[in-house]
Amino acid sequence: MPSTVLRPGKSPIALRVRFDDASGFDLTEAGTQKRLAAYVVNRVADVPGIASLGPDPLADDFTEEVFAGILAAHRMQVKGLLRDQSIIAGVGNAYSDEVLHVAKLSPFALAATLDPDQVTRLYTALRETLAQAVATASGKPAKELKDAKRAGMRVHGRTGEVCPECGDVVREVSFADSSLQYCATCQTGGKPLADRRTSKFLK
Ligand SMILES: [Zn+2]
Repeated sequence: MPSTVLRPGKSPIALRVRFDDASGFDLTEAGTQKRLAAYVVNRVADVPGIASLGPDPLADDFTEEVFAGILAAHRMQVKGLLRDQSIIAGVGNAYSDEVLHVAKLSPFALAATLDPDQVTRLYTALRETLAQAVATASGKPAKELKDAKRAGMRVHGRTGEVCPECGDVVREVSFADSSLQYCATCQTGGKPLADRRTSKFLK
C-alpha cells in the first residue's frame, strides 16, 4: 500500500492500485476527469462491457474469412468499424488510423463494399500493425509506453508531417467525436477528404 494516504478531492489522482507483493504492479490514473473504471472480479467476463466485446483480432481463430464476414455484415465506414469495441476488440483511434494507412484504404470506405483485394490488405495490415504494437510495448516500463507508441506512428497524430510512404503531407479530418489522420496520396486517390468542421464554416 502507498505510505501516504491520498485524500479524495484534494489530488488529481483518480485511482491508484498497487499490489503488496513482489509483482511490482502499480497502476495510477491521474487527472481530474474520471475516464477509468476498475473492477475486482473473479472472472473477466463478469466485468460489464467485457462480455460485449468483439473478437480479439490477434487470436488464432480470427481468420481472414471471419474478418471478411464481419466487414460484409456492417454498412458503416471502416474507420468506425475498426474502432468499435463491440465489433473488434482492442483497436482505438490511433491504431485504426495506422491500419488504414498500411492497407492504403480510405477511412470513409464502406466496410460492406470492400472488394476481396481490399479485404486481404486490411486484414494483413490489421494483424501486422497490432502484432508490431504488442511487440514494441512488450517489456517496456509503463512510463516509456506512450513515447514508444507515438514514435511508431506513421500518420496518427502527425498532421502536417510527411507521409513516410510517399512524401505527401499527412492530413486531418474530423471523425465522430475526434479527428483522424490519413495520407490522401496513399489512401484516397490523392483527393483530400471533406472535413465537416471546416467546410461548414470556411468557403
Ligand atoms: Zn502517403
